Amino acid sequence: MPAPMDLSHAKSLDHADPLKSYRERFYHSEPGLLYMDGNSLGKLPLETLELSQRLVQQQWGDRLIRSWNEGWLELPQRIGDKIGQLVGARQGEVIVADSTSINLFKLVSAALSLRPGRSKILTDTLNFPSDLYILEGVSQMMGKSHSIQLVDSHDGVHGPEDELIAQLDSNTALLTLSHTVYKSGYVYDMKRLTQAAHEVGALVLWDLSHSTGAVAVDLHTSQADIAVGCTYKYLNGGPGSPAFMFVKEALQASLQNPISGWMGHQDLFAFSKVYSPAPGIKRFLAGTPAIVSTALIEPGVDILLEAGIPALVEKSQKQIDYFYELWAYFLKDLGFQFESPREAQYRGSHATLSHEQALPIDLALIHEKGVIPDFRAPHYLRFGMAPIYTSFEEIYLTIQHLKEIYTTGMYLSYQDKKPSVT
Ligand SMILES: *Cc1c(COP(=O)(O)O)cnc(C)c1O
Repeated sequence: MPAPMDLSHAKSLDHADPLKSYRERFYHSEPGLLYMDGNSLGKLPLETLELSQRLVQQQWGDRLIRSWNEGWLELPQRIGDKIGQLVGARQGEVIVADSTSINLFKLVSAALSLRPGRSKILTDTLNFPSDLYILEGVSQMMGKSHSIQLVDSHDGVHGPEDELIAQLDSNTALLTLSHTVYKSGYVYDMKRLTQAAHEVGALVLWDLSHSTGAVAVDLHTSQADIAVGCTYKYLNGGPGSPAFMFVKEALQASLQNPISGWMGHQDLFAFSKVYSPAPGIKRFLAGTPAIVSTALIEPGVDILLEAGIPALVEKSQKQIDYFYELWAYFLKDLGFQFESPREAQYRGSHATLSHEQALPIDLALIHEKGVIPDFRAPHYLRFGMAPIYTSFEEIYLTIQHLKEIYTTGMYLSYQDKKPSVT
């Protein structure tokens, strides 16, 4: 039965939400701001705000270099293990380091070296642009030894799973995909694709950036090999917070970090002249970790662990279903198309709408209504629902603002303006 289309129903959904109290664990400085961009930059946990002061003053200011032995050296792995619990990894299989792009570079290089004689890298057109650029860069660096095969999505929304599987062959070294597509929010069947790639002897690298913290990921059940992911989206780690990488234990000893820096050395303070990698996941560190940014990831991860992924996923699916119903009732006849999968099991935690006037509508939302979605060229609006803090009321009000901006023509005065960061 469709939900009633009024504000009091939204409020009753919030009232019944078992995660509702988590919203208060975040900093909301502008009452009424409708923040629908938690899939690009998550909100600030209050505990992070408090920790930042303590960390800088006590750990850096008071303890100075002694802090390296008072927890800093273990930080990338300790927080990595916590993130690992959110994605079904085992202890010692996840480490926090560098950016997603750099970790991707490290793992793509390492994976290709492990499949000599195979020259195909398989991916698709829905993958994140930076991931495609990194693939090109690695192939270039290896003497253009590899060809990148980009499989097309028939509708730009759904991942071309069958077509990808059909292209796997004995020449395929690596299959790499964004687990949740940054534009449409499509979620791949990780287990199915991983199994198909393993059947031809290829490795699989998953980018979990748009999944971690809001989408069900079980790396072990899926028998995943390697993965990367970002911490400033649903993990609420802060702008540019370091990324993470996963390498299953059985592969750790055979994969080589191409950025063989001292932090990945088996005995970094021996200052040996020869590189000898640490035995476990630590070999994927390169230089000195960004300690302040790394430490500030932890409170956000702790909050998600406390709430539990199953509850977060359940709420996320409910919220997108609600968004869909509101769209169908209020926006469908106004030229807005729903550009995310309809089925909950193939869907991440953001919903995408397209509209001919998407950019001026986006600008009017931001400047007239205090709603922050994001815009993706040429005509997409993404609405991120971070189940840890997004309310049903916010979703309801966002849809009402969209309707009003369009029906009153408020967007018309934004037709000539260009945004910088959208
Ligand atoms: C956000 C995102 C990234 C971010 O990469 P950085 O190197 O951290 O800038 C990478 N991949 C995907 C799929 C993303 O959504």
